[in-house]
Amino acid sequence: MKGPFTALAAPLDVGPMVLRNRIVMGSMHTGLESARDDAAHDRLARFYAERAKGGAALIVTGGFGPNAAGRLAAEDLPFATIEQARQHARITRAVHDEGGAIALQLVHAGRYGYHEDSVAPSPIRSPINRAAPREMTEADIADTIEDFVRGARLAKEAGYDGVEIMGSEGYLISQFLAPRTNKRTDAWGGPLEARARFPRAIVSAVRAALGPGFLIVYRHSVLDLVEDALSWDETVWVAREVANAGANIINTGIGWHEAKIPTIAGVVPHGAFVGAIGKLKRAVSIPVAASNRINSPDVAERILAAGDADLISMARPLLADAAFARKAFAGEQAEINVCIACNQACLDHYFENKVISCLVNPRAGYEAEYEPAPVARAKRIAVVGAGMAGMAAAIEAARRGHHVEVFERAPQAGGQMNLAARVPGKADYAAAAQAYLAQLRRLGVPVHLSTHADPALLARGGFDEVVVATGVRPRLLDIPGCDDERVISYEAALTGASSVGPRVAIIGAGGIGHDVALTLASQDHAAATDAAAFARRWGVAGPAQMPSPARQVTLMKRQSGPFGRTLGKTTGWILRQELRDLRVAQLAGVTYLKIDASGLHIEHDGARRIIEVDTIVSCAGQEPENELAVELAALAKPVYLIGGARHAAELDAKRAVDEGVRLGLRI
Ligand code: NAP
Ligand code: SF4
Repeated sequence: MKGPFTALAAPLDVGPMVLRNRIVMGSMHTGLESARDDAAHDRLARFYAERAKGGAALIVTGGFGPNAAGRLAAEDLPFATIEQARQHARITRAVHDEGGAIALQLVHAGRYGYHEDSVAPSPIRSPINRAAPREMTEADIADTIEDFVRGARLAKEAGYDGVEIMGSEGYLISQFLAPRTNKRTDAWGGPLEARARFPRAIVSAVRAALGPGFLIVYRHSVLDLVEDALSWDETVWVAREVANAGANIINTGIGWHEAKIPTIAGVVPHGAFVGAIGKLKRAVSIPVAASNRINSPDVAERILAAGDADLISMARPLLADAAFARKAFAGEQAEINVCIACNQACLDHYFENKVISCLVNPRAGYEAEYEPAPVARAKRIAVVGAGMAGMAAAIEAARRGHHVEVFERAPQAGGQMNLAARVPGKADYAAAAQAYLAQLRRLGVPVHLSTHADPALLARGGFDEVVVATGVRPRLLDIPGCDDERVISYEAALTGASSVGPRVAIIGAGGIGHDVALTLASQDHAAATDAAAFARRWGVAGPAQMPSPARQVTLMKRQSGPFGRTLGKTTGWILRQELRDLRVAQLAGVTYLKIDASGLHIEHDGARRIIEVDTIVSCAGQEPENELAVELAALAKPVYLIGGARHAAELDAKRAVDEGVRLGLRI
């Protein structure tokens, strides 16, 4: 195979089959696992088939419980009937038609089950679940092993090439393996050999029942990241045991869900856990898949070329771009949508009981809804603003056949994403914008940077329609004295356009206020880019090294109540933790009185006080930048307003991109 990604493109014989390359779509709950109707299964079929068409060699589905006790949530349906297998045949057929292989993930939630029937090796409640599990009897254990076998048989019946047995992330199998959760005194608890009996029994029973032609992937916890779990030697020993019991591939998992160390968020450097994964790979004789924060073919290739893994498992990056593999192998890697690890439309959706999607690719999971149709008559369309909304609209419209031109006032495309990229752990945001730009270039869309598109310019251009995606501008403060030179915007603080002194007050504690607090309080950003610095900072192998703050930062808001309520469900805890560790002072229920030479005067908790500051950063939200749309009314042409320019309040990139894509598909 020619091209830059020879290791990634190389086929791999995994026993029951030869995988066409090294890209595995890792398991991710889609929110459709419990669906009972054919339409939902067709939707899943379409979702996975697009990923197979995009070149992924092996797809692992979202998790299915082998029995009712093992389901993740009360409304979930275990994978346990022949009717379900028949419905799933739609999925497997669709993936096979695109040349991909597909395995069903069987996951028993154990004490992570959010329902009344949860069970575990010992009746110890998880810190992330209110319900305590019931202790499994020996008969329960035997039945559960049989239920895994039934799930695997049904998977085969449905046409799956194999199963992935979930042995990591703190689910039931992890709970058997770890002394913290397994206090049994019978043959399933005590020494490691006894605690490991459960996964070994499952793998060997599935192998015995399904024969050598059926793929068994075992997802193994390489690092538990919780106390009183497995040592490194025990981790290796268990991996060898499941390999001996019949697993074909070890897929890797990092950290239990109750771990207090980030494992997939943006603050985790690319390939942060490859050191441990590589060590495991060298200790076992079956292929090992690397996972966690691998979001580009470059990183994936590096891991394979270094011999740290045989396969690369990516879940979110394949949501971001179904054609990840095809583009990588066709030399179009610059155009691969970059997963920015925000979790906003994938994991956060799942926990809000919504079907998952992707911020940079809203089509993910909604393929039928976002169906591009070629245009009957190609129009000349001007898109003003090359932020994510404008570029998304331009890409979709151009793909459908319109003649699109993009105008951007700034010297670079990307808008707010470029600002976000200055925040520790968000460097990928700029890369995501660059990927959109590269797609526009491939589509032949002229992108005029450093160009102010006024009505005269647009009139001269003879456009049929104009999309105004001019974004937002920071809201100005209305506090007496706010014209003081110590008051700067978040833009100036993040770009370094204004210098920031050692004592900082931040006015406004939305997402941007929090991000600015983190950026200004951090000494350096190495922990988000360098695996060793990350490991030290978060205590991956030893006590966490507390960062020392670069500045004394005070974050303030007028409303009362806890900070960070608007932050992402699955990532907000990390930002809150970082600000605590950086000793950022947080004042809620503040009234801003004035700014003068002595500092920022506020009223807080019924008392007046002065915060002595060198710099005050305004993070007070945004106003829409929409004047152009008003001025264009005279052109008497259709004008569309999208993204922040349409509605700035609570604007986030997810909504902006979605509006852009939807407009591009219908314009
Ligand atoms: P935001 O979430 O609307 O927060 C603006 C803050 O400014 C509020 O905390 C508000 O708090 C305060 N404020 C509003 N008007 C004010 C005024 N006139 N004077 C003083 N304070 C004022 O906006 P944002 O932080 O700019 O974020 C924009 C969008 O980006 C949001 O949708 C956000 O979710 C998203 N985002 C998220 C993240 C993240 O999750 N990490 C990061 C960046 C951006 P009080 O009214 O209580 O004072
Ligand atoms: Fe990645 Fe964010 Fe998309 Fe999830 S929503 S796949 S984290 S870019």
